[in-house]
Amino acid sequence: MSLSVPQEILDALTDVVMPRLKPEPEVAEMLRIGGFDVPVYRTGALVIGSGAAGLRAAVEMKRRGVYVTIISQSAWGGTSACSGSDKQTLHTANTKDQGDNFQAMAEAIRAGGAMDEDTAYIEAVGSVRAMASLQYLGLPLPQDHLGGTLRYQTDHDEVGRATSCGPRTSRLMVKVLAEEAIRLDIPFFNHTTAIKVLKDAQGVTGLLAIRPKEASDANPYGLTLSACSAMVFAAGGPGEMYRDSVFPNGCFGTLGLALESGLELTNITESQFGIGTRREGFPWNLSGTYVQVIPHIYSVDTEGTEHHFLADYYRTTQEMASNIFRKGYQWPFHASRMLDFQSSLVDLAIFRESQKGRRVYMDFNRNPVAIDAPFSLDRLDPDVGAYLRNAGADHALPIDRLRHMNPLAIELYKRYKVDITADPLEFAVNNQHMNGGIAVDTWGRTNVSGIYAVGEASGTHGVTRPGGSALNAGQVFGTRVAEHIGASSVAAAPSSANISTVGEAAVSEVMRLLTRESGQSWKDIRTEVQARMSDHAGILCTAHDVTMAMEGARTLNAQIRAHGLQVSRTGEVARAIQWQQMAVASEAVLSALDHYIAQGGGSRGARAICDPTGDSLPQSVHGSLPEVRFRAERDTDKQSQLRVRLEGTYMIVTKVPNRPYDGDQSFFERDWPAWLTGGIYDQDTAPL
Ligand SMILES: Cc1cc2nc3c(=O)[nH]c(=O)nc-3n(C[C@H](O)[C@H](O)[C@H](O)COP(=O)(O)OP(=O)(O)OC[C@H]3O[C@@H](n4cnc5c(N)ncnc54)[C@H](O)[C@@H]3O)c2cc1C
Repeated sequence: MSLSVPQEILDALTDVVMPRLKPEPEVAEMLRIGGFDVPVYRTGALVIGSGAAGLRAAVEMKRRGVYVTIISQSAWGGTSACSGSDKQTLHTANTKDQGDNFQAMAEAIRAGGAMDEDTAYIEAVGSVRAMASLQYLGLPLPQDHLGGTLRYQTDHDEVGRATSCGPRTSRLMVKVLAEEAIRLDIPFFNHTTAIKVLKDAQGVTGLLAIRPKEASDANPYGLTLSACSAMVFAAGGPGEMYRDSVFPNGCFGTLGLALESGLELTNITESQFGIGTRREGFPWNLSGTYVQVIPHIYSVDTEGTEHHFLADYYRTTQEMASNIFRKGYQWPFHASRMLDFQSSLVDLAIFRESQKGRRVYMDFNRNPVAIDAPFSLDRLDPDVGAYLRNAGADHALPIDRLRHMNPLAIELYKRYKVDITADPLEFAVNNQHMNGGIAVDTWGRTNVSGIYAVGEASGTHGVTRPGGSALNAGQVFGTRVAEHIGASSVAAAPSSANISTVGEAAVSEVMRLLTRESGQSWKDIRTEVQARMSDHAGILCTAHDVTMAMEGARTLNAQIRAHGLQVSRTGEVARAIQWQQMAVASEAVLSALDHYIAQGGGSRGARAICDPTGDSLPQSVHGSLPEVRFRAERDTDKQSQLRVRLEGTYMIVTKVPNRPYDGDQSFFERDWPAWLTGGIYDQDTAPL
């Protein structure tokens, strides 16, 4: 891309205007429950969440004759609509030149371990259809003049399976999918927050939600019930769990709700942490070209003094500059990359500066300051120098290299009143993505009959994931869930289930939680949960710290159970319950992490498990760094996943082996009948 791209083209890819929703359906039925008049809405399938994954599931269901309805806390909220990076990535099978190999792609997707092998193959083989259908709906993925998709290399991707529409790929995905949902007349209840799942002995029967719009004297909290025969959790990741976070504001996900509903979670110890601008300002990921142009990185202490702190870690200017560059496609922190002066030493250094109370910046108007020799584009590691030469980025200053390589990256911050052509950009190491989530089978089914999970709500990734595979997984599993629900016909018409008894039980549970004078305030819960998770379960942790944090989380949940929630305004009820459920989710993460460490688990993906007897010792230019000596990962841990479920008030953690996949055994004539008759959907087998 060059400077000659007209401004209106840049604008269209950065200012993505969302479509207008149609008026919400009228709700005629009312139930008198717990002294409230509660509206009841009936549907076949209910999708919780309107991110890229939920919308995909809804659109595909509607096309298969399912009576589907979407509810969402915020129609254009969540990570898909509000997050991105310099080139926000979609990871799909390579569709240029000699194409791809799905087996090899599946192996790359699950290379970090703790991932079901069949899921990896599903994501690989399903990616072509996911991408092509997005293109059909109008997603402007870039092509060359012969129709090949333009590709580049991203995190955990040795081949170059990444593509992008620019900084806002996922928002554009939401836009085209939402336009399709509107075109298909899918009922949509906006500003509706799911708080309790209704079940009977057979499985899911409905949902209790809060809709401020329904609030009245007869229903002050805006309680609302839905009856349904199938439900899809698509509420994204638990972005609010950490104080230091690059998730957009208000991303709660539904891990706590899932645990309370009897759903099993998997791999929830696995998150991604990396550099980005925090949500207090404009939360944005700083991978790709932001670092590939090699800006100067420095910190400022409380006295206003600048520190060239990377010089305390790397041995030469070339080594430092090349590793800043590599953060472009080695974005997530990984403990093993702290070794041998690799790129996660950059994350470690930034994290430790923040811990000292210093603010960290990248300055695009300065090249890195010298360690031994002055910075020069001619003195970079061969892979780094070659990339910049191929990109034609031979400009003297990082900002000019950025303007040349990716002008959208500059435009994007300008939209939020941050001019990186003039001012340095403050950033930090933040939590960005939950790799784990609700455990699902190959059709997206959870362990509760009728409940499915897709997107970041589901735990379909392993310890690591190639950049862009989160968005791909949501599209692939959104489609599979729709195929499964569609084939079963259970949700072809609105549910006629009698939900008054289960609805009553759910309402009284909520009221028990709310009506306590001495209850916990949600703001206090927020402060406590976020601080605990960022301070004790971030990129560096120890066995002792995690155990103490888990005990703290347990105590908090016990207090909430004993004293309830203090809510000063009826309008705060949904938020207060989301914080109560986040407290449950954080206890689950810490319980799984504590279990993993206690069983001898080592450092992988998200975190370094620091241990004075650990076998891995990162070095800096000044010598070894014993305070971050860590345990290496054991190979055996790659073969299994940790599941967590809530039994009463206890988190039960168990280990299950990854599901295997031993290659494509299908044969056309033999397997065709199973497709024709719906046998492929395994409708009669229990999920998980
Ligand atoms: C800064 C950043 C950069 C990223 N870059 C990439 C990238 O380059 N490539 C990639 O693949 N992934 C990336 N990711 C991750 C990816 O964006 C997300 O995993 C993905 O968008 C999640 O989509 P989703 O549909 O599952 O959830 P979301 O898009 O988060 O949607 C969740 C929906 O659920 C709704 N909701 C939440 N709670 C409730 C509730 N209780 N009741 C009702 N509705 C509810 C929300 O309003 C929202 O509509 C990035 C993430 C971040 C934060």
